[in-house]
Amino acid sequence: MSPQPDARRTELAARLEKVRDRIARACEGSERDPSETTLVAVTKFFPASDVALLAGLGVTDVGENRDQEAGPKIAEVRETVEDPPRLHFIGQLQTNKAASVAAYADVVHSVDRMRLVRALERGAARADRRLDVLLQVDLEEGPGHDGRGGASPDLVADLAAGVAGAEHLRLRGLMAVAPLDVPARPAFQRLAQIATRLREQHPEATWLSAGMSADLEDAVACGATHLRVGTAILGARPDAR
Ligand SMILES: *Cc1c(COP(=O)(O)O)cnc(C)c1O
Repeated sequence: MSPQPDARRTELAARLEKVRDRIARACEGSERDPSETTLVAVTKFFPASDVALLAGLGVTDVGENRDQEAGPKIAEVRETVEDPPRLHFIGQLQTNKAASVAAYADVVHSVDRMRLVRALERGAARADRRLDVLLQVDLEEGPGHDGRGGASPDLVADLAAGVAGAEHLRLRGLMAVAPLDVPARPAFQRLAQIATRLREQHPEATWLSAGMSADLEDAVACGATHLRVGTAILGARPDAR
């Protein structure tokens, strides 16, 4: 545990309340029911003790982006917390880490290529689990962008068919990160259109993971169901990325 768990708990509780207020107001503004949204608290770079505190504050879902950090952390949380939160893997995922992640994650948000679909299916089969999967869409336009991961929108249909045909994977929907240095809203609107097309083929793919600390209001307005919020709850990361 951190040296002052009570102080940390108070701090997390206050920030969490602010974020929940922001989500509630955003839902009100777009006439959505807040129960349609799931807050995924992104705990990367923060210790298992913070995850335990958040669980005690009613957080049901946490996000992590690196296998070597997420695996041991969630193992510790599951040993010590009575009702541990679901673990969402939200980071770019190397194919050779897929089996490891498939053994402990509940949801993988960052599936963007067929090799990764096959590797996750093998890993989930070996672990005898069924994984919820979101396809990550690249919303950057034009050449020469920095590659925050994600499949080009025209590859989504093929990837979706691959996931839907995999016995140990369950296609849930789409995920995206807003492009840097441009307004988030139009990008999230494009994402919502891609999601609508996907649901014509896969009506079960109802989840839309979009929105972070800076742009969750835009994401809610565009139909996001899963909001991945780190900094606004946990504070600045020691080595922000
Ligand atoms: C770190 C991260 C987040 C959280 O970002 P904040 O700006 O701290 O809220 C959300 N999504 C992904 C994919 C991330 O890597």
